[in-house]
Amino acid sequence: KLGNETAKAELGRASWKLFHTIMARFPDKPSADESAALRDYVYLFQRLYPCGECAEHFGKILGEFPPQTSSRSSAAVWACHVHNEVNKSLKKEIFDCANIGDFYDCGCADDEHDDK
Ligand code: FAD
Repeated sequence: KLGNETAKAELGRASWKLFHTIMARFPDKPSADESAALRDYVYLFQRLYPCGECAEHFGKILGEFPPQTSSRSSAAVWACHVHNEVNKSLKKEIFDCANIGDFYDCGCADDEHDDK
């Protein structure tokens, strides 16, 4: 467990940024293998998350809302939803998931095969 609130918040912001950007770059029409990889990633992210109390709390959220990995949009909306569950418990503002579409731009080229 990280003892320092500033470090915990910074880790959270960096982690959410990567988490949502991964969803924004996930294929529109993933193969079964790609969907399985994203699902595994989410569970390993939870299991290995460095803030222990956060990991435990997020594990309960995943139990209630399992990862949705059948398409980019379902993954992005699901991730927005579970982040909002964390926001709720921390009494933070709820993010409007209708705006998730172009919020996370990694600055990567559009070509999904060559320039990820
Ligand atoms: P953050 O919540 O870090 O969000 C960063 C930015 O993401 C926001 O400024 C906004 O632009 C955008 N955003 C906000 N909501 C959404 C959304 N729903 N979808 C997409 N984008 C959004 N902290 C604790 O103190 N206790 C915990 O139990 C805890 N559990 C956590 C579990 C996980 C898995 C993670 C990744 C973090 C957890 N944190 C926890 C950290 C906490 O969620 C915040 O990251 C931290 O408090 C900093 O908050 P923030 O207000 O800067 O915004």
